[in-house]
Amino acid sequence: MATASFKSMFGGFEYTVARKRIKNVNLRVRSDGSVAVSAPYGVPEKFITEFVEQNSGKILDIIKNLPPKTEKVPEKKYSYDEERAFLKEAERVCRSVEPLFFGGKYKAPQIELCRGHSRWGYCMPRKKIIRLNVRLSEYPEQCLRYVAIHEYCHLLVPNHSAEFYAELEKRMPDWKRWKKRLGEGSHRGLTNYSLNYCSQVRK
Ligand SMILES: [Zn+2]
Repeated sequence: MATASFKSMFGGFEYTVARKRIKNVNLRVRSDGSVAVSAPYGVPEKFITEFVEQNSGKILDIIKNLPPKTEKVPEKKYSYDEERAFLKEAERVCRSVEPLFFGGKYKAPQIELCRGHSRWGYCMPRKKIIRLNVRLSEYPEQCLRYVAIHEYCHLLVPNHSAEFYAELEKRMPDWKRWKKRLGEGSHRGLTNYSLNYCSQVRK
């Protein structure tokens, strides 16, 4: 893992670069404000530097808007039964949003549970797995529905482009309300964005 830094008149930050067996360059701002980039082995360093530069405005915005550390919700431990109950609920909500996507025509993704404070949910489009955070059980059902629809949209668009948000908006016009309810800033999972490396290679 290498460390690099970015600096401009608007601010700066340090970031780590980890090489992995992945296809895209991913960038993540953690809740503590640290920035992590993961990149496929073959991607030139220059590409990564430029990628960080291009996204630096967004990154600095995210860092600036992170909630102060004292606001951090203490980690609640969930019992086995609580986790089971959440998973059942998550599956029910997911099945109910599926008709919005493929009308039951394709293989439905597998729904799994995740824990912790880093993401509300995430999607592995190729493996067809969607994970939803058990902490969603503390919020109204519409929040769970919002995160589920967000992750299902990643089956269609794997990044957070305008196209992605158009798909989300179509299926849940009031999504911003539920995202807000989940707490701006603490919504770290959804501050991740990734870029398809292949579409960005310059000849
Ligand atoms: Zn997302």
